[in-house]
Amino acid sequence: MELIFIGYPGSGKGTQAALLSQHFGNIPKISTGDILRAAVAAKTDLGMKAKLFMDAGELVPDYLIIDMVVQRISEPDSAKGYILDGFPRNIHQAQELDRVLLNHRRPIAGVLSLEIEKKKVIERLTSRRVCSKCGHLFNLISDPPPANNICSLCKGQIYQRSDDKPETVLHRMEVYEEATRPLKSYYGSQGKLIPIDGSLSIEKVQAEIINRLTKALAQFELWKRVPRRYTS
Ligand code: AMP
Repeated sequence: MELIFIGYPGSGKGTQAALLSQHFGNIPKISTGDILRAAVAAKTDLGMKAKLFMDAGELVPDYLIIDMVVQRISEPDSAKGYILDGFPRNIHQAQELDRVLLNHRRPIAGVLSLEIEKKKVIERLTSRRVCSKCGHLFNLISDPPPANNICSLCKGQIYQRSDDKPETVLHRMEVYEEATRPLKSYYGSQGKLIPIDGSLSIEKVQAEIINRLTKALAQFELWKRVPRRYTS
């Protein structure tokens, strides 16, 4: 089963995608942001090229991202499906993904859109802190890191992502509105969009996702049984 999360940066996509991956047990969460950050840390060719764009809060060019995702979803652990977090980020990426999936006859089952006020995500992002070792997220307001900035779970160093600085956050919001928000109509017109109230607690958002997804997936299974010639 192939699923996508969309929503403002900081809307909770990463957290909810990880919980959903645990819930299903056998399908990985694939985060393009995490893959790129690992490439930056390892100073690979991709990482060096991507870093400039990431630090500026810009999207990394499609020609770097699309091949990276196509390769990742062809790996054995994705055979039963995956949950995409941070991809697609614009209409061209979505069209390319649809084209690849059509060839594999594995259409996207649903697109979870986390709906949350812009003001709230700006506050969440600028107060977000991350463990450099285990990736655990802290929040200066709701879940402050220890005073010495050493992760209580793995002893890794806690830091602020360079793109979570206030100026860059505002620019990432603009990029979302211009490039990513149109995906809502794109997937809406395919009947795949599942809007979720992302302003609630992590547990409540997760419960709502599972509830809405269970219904949507039942319909999707029925739809898959309709002979192809009747669906176009
Ligand atoms: P994220 O962790 O998803 O907020 O991504 C962090 C940064 O990685 C973004 O601000 C972009 O610079 C880059 N990035 C992640 N995913 C994509 C994508 N699908 N297309 C282009 N750039 C991306």
